[in-house]
Order: sequence, then structure tokens, then C-alpha cells
Amino acid sequence: QEDVFKKIVSHCKEYGYVFPSSDIYDGLGAVYDYGQMGVELKNNIKKYWWDSMVLLHENIVGIDSAIFMHPTIWKASGHVDAFNDPLIDNKDSKKRYRADVLIEDQLAKYDEKINKEVEKARKRFGESFDEAQFRATNGRVLENQNKRDALHERFAKALNDGNLEELRQIILDEEIVCPISGTRNWTEVRQFNLMFSTEMGSTSDGAMKVYLRPETAQGIFVNYLNVQKTGRMKIPFGIAQIGKAFRNEIVARQFIFRMREFEQMEMQFFVRPGEELTWFQSWKEQRLKWHKALGLGDTKYRYHDHDKLAHYANAATDIEFEMPFGFKEVEGIHSRTDFDLSQHEKYCGKNIKYFDPELNESYTPYVVETSIGVDRMFLSIVCSSYCEEKLENGETRVVLRLPAALAPVKLAVMPLVKKDGLPEKAREIINQLKFQFNCQYDEKDSIGKRYRRQDAIGTPYCVTVDHQTLEDNCVTIRHRDSMEQERVSISELSNIIADKVSI
Ligand code: ATP
Repeated sequence: QEDVFKKIVSHCKEYGYVFPSSDIYDGLGAVYDYGQMGVELKNNIKKYWWDSMVLLHENIVGIDSAIFMHPTIWKASGHVDAFNDPLIDNKDSKKRYRADVLIEDQLAKYDEKINKEVEKARKRFGESFDEAQFRATNGRVLENQNKRDALHERFAKALNDGNLEELRQIILDEEIVCPISGTRNWTEVRQFNLMFSTEMGSTSDGAMKVYLRPETAQGIFVNYLNVQKTGRMKIPFGIAQIGKAFRNEIVARQFIFRMREFEQMEMQFFVRPGEELTWFQSWKEQRLKWHKALGLGDTKYRYHDHDKLAHYANAATDIEFEMPFGFKEVEGIHSRTDFDLSQHEKYCGKNIKYFDPELNESYTPYVVETSIGVDRMFLSIVCSSYCEEKLENGETRVVLRLPAALAPVKLAVMPLVKKDGLPEKAREIINQLKFQFNCQYDEKDSIGKRYRRQDAIGTPYCVTVDHQTLEDNCVTIRHRDSMEQERVSISELSNIIADKVSI
């Protein structure tokens, strides 16, 4: 699986999806740039989300708030005091690690050992293998399972108590070594704030320390009354936003899964106190449906309900997606109570309550939020679309089976040869369709090579113009996934493609 993931990362670079940031300067850790294909896919993802939230819901509107915000906002939200990761340094390699991630990796190692035993036994016993029975009775499995359970319990308690010394003790007791130096020579565990800060204004007039927002949500909270009043919104209503967020992540791994500059699509839904759990359930279901509608495969998703809740939440779940490196969070759905709005009311000293005309009373709304990372969604789509296929003639083709609605290029139009008026005819077709779909003109190399190139970027349709076209106004349309080809009239193209590229 790791090999596949490496291939996906280099495929993304080779075909203009994702480049390391500052590439000619050898990159910048955990920062990436989207190329000519990547930006189209990303825009399509954002549109798919925006349309489903803002266009399809009468009671949800969008905003676009600034990245810089008043610094007190981050005090009120709790980020200044509590948006921390526990870090530990290895004294020999001088490398810094997240203590919690080192322990999570250790948990994964126990899982790996258990799975290895299970797989070995499955091979040995074949058809008659009873996995549950084996797990419940095999000595080695039980031993590792017990160690894993004990570690999990100890780890959860240490996190819950915010006990940094205990996190360090766990690392020592588990004999975890630094992957670089191979030693266990660790410092103590310290908290490290994830927010980036900078200065606003020049130093002579007293510069103010400001933060790059670590989430877009606060821009919605501080604007909720502006939007409610000017948009005459009535509870329940939602505000949606897409925008950049910044976190000084220490463990920068897994490509665009965890970045220091990334993009979020968040929606805060304001409800009457007491109704939040019903709305939480409803959004939890709606969001999973939205993901599944893309057709990447229903079994690739699962919920991960949180049993340990942040102090401000009364329910929380993640939607996880099966990446090549395991099931990982792509979206969080949280019932955040009235925590954020109450905090802002306290810190700004103004009344920001909502007046409910039906109840004839004022109150602080409760909030259910859905928060998804654009980049993680991008990664989930690319990973599940990447496919190496053995063809009948023995060749391998690499194809990105992107959902047609999200594909950067919807159709490539190709003249069979570069003469006899075929290029002109091809351009004529593009001129007819380019306002409706993103089209690409391609005349270089053999037709087979051109098909492969379009497969690799995930173009769902290739349209070939040949000599016959000049007589009958028909073209060959080739379908990316089945590689089937059919002859259709040029006038039908618009409908055929429109039908397939909508969700
Ligand atoms: P994680 O536990 O993976 O760090 P989180 O629980 O801190 O994520 P949230 O604060 O709930 O994440 O943010 C909501 C969404 O924003 C996540 O589900 C994820 O898709 C995205 N996200 C968060 N941090 C990053 C990051 N560093 N890079 C890319 N996307 C991110």
C-alpha cells in the first residue's frame, strides 16, 4: 500500500495536480501548490460542496471572512491557551516528535502484529478459518491484544488529564525509539501552540500580534448576527464558508493529508438550545450521504464517534475515509453547544443574543458544525481513483477514475491527423462546447498515446475527429473507464456529456 501511495504522489506531480511548494528551492515542509489540473479538481470539489450547502438549502447562506481577525477572538475561542500539541525531542537526533503520535504508532504496531498472526493462520487453514475463534484463543494474539488495550487505556487517561509526564513515561515504558537515531534519549514533553503569528502595523506605532486563523469557524461566529440581521434569517439557519486555515503542524506526513496551510469548508448551523442533538444526527446523516453520492465506494467510509469529547462539545463524530494508509478523518461533525458564542459575548462585552420572534425571547443559539478539509477530500478522491490496469495486449494503463463531475477536463478533442482540415474541425467542436465544459485540444503523438495521457489525468471523454467526420458530422467518443468507443453525431455531444458529468 505504501508503494501505491508513493506512486500516487509522483503521479500528482507528473500530471500537474500537486507540486511541493517552492519546488526549485527543494520544497517547504508540509506546504504544497496545486498545479493546472489540481486547481480545477479543487475548484470542482469546492463547487460541489458550496452548491449542496448554499444553493440547495434555503436557510444556509455563505460568507467569506478575512484570515486576519482581532487577536482576542483566539483568546475567547480557547486557541491561545489550549490549541496545543504535546512535543518531545530526541536528544541524539535533535528531532522533534508529537508524543501522542509516537504512542499512536506504537498502538498501530500491536495491531500490525495481531493482523500478521491472523493472516498467517488464514493462509494455513484456508476456507475453514474462523477468525473470531482464532482471535479469542491464540496465545500470541491475546498477548498483543492485552498489551494494546492496556496501552490504549493508559494513553487515553494521560490525554484526558493533560498529564505530560505520563505521556513521556509511556514512551519510555514502551521502549519507543527515535526513528532517526534509534535511541530512547528523550527530553520532557512540552506543549506547543499550533497557531502561526505575525505582526500587524509597524513597530513604531506599536505593532499588534495577530494570528493566521487555524480554522474558518470563528469568522462565522463573530459574523453570525450581521448575517442573521441583514439576511433576515430565522433559526434554524446556517452559514457556510470556504477558506484557508493555518496550523504549525509538527508531524508533517502523508503528503497533503496534514499541511501547514490548507483549506476548510465549514458550515455552522444555529439552532434552538435543546434541539442540537436532533440536528447533529441529521447533519451526520446528510454529510455521509453527500460523500457517498460521489460514487467512490460506500465501504470506504465509516463514522468514528468520539467517546472523549472536547469540553465545549456534547456530541462529535468524524467521517473517515479509507486512504492507502488506513481509515482517516476527512470531516468532523460537532455539536458545539453555545460555547463559542457565549465566549465571544463575554470577551467582546456586547449582547450578541438572537431574538426568536416565534418564542418572543432572546437566547444564545446552539451550534452544530460540519467541517471538512478540501485537501483531504482531494486526497481521498485521487487515492481511490488511481488505478493501474493490465490490458489484454499485456500493456499497463494508469487511469484516474475520477467522478466525471469533478474531473478537471471533461473532454479532449483530438484530430486523428494534423492535416486535411481535421484540426480546424476539432477546434470548431471545442468552440461549441467550451462554455459548457472544460475541454482540451490535443493533436500531438499517436492517438493511443493521447488516450493514455487523458486517462492519466482522468478525462472522462475523448472525442476523435477523422476524415469521415468531415462528411457525416459524426465523431468517435471514447469512454475513459470502459475504453468503449461509439460513433455519435457532433450535435449530440453536449447532451451526452452533460448527462454524465452531473451528480
Ligand atoms: P486531525 O486530528 O487530523 O489533526 P482535527 O481533528 O484537528 O484533525 P479539525 O480541527 O476538526 O481537524 O478540522 C476539520 C477538518 O479540517 C479536518 O477533518 C480535516 O479535513 C481538515 N484539516 C485539519 N487539519 C488539517 C491539516 N493540517 N491539513 C489538512 N487538512 C486539515
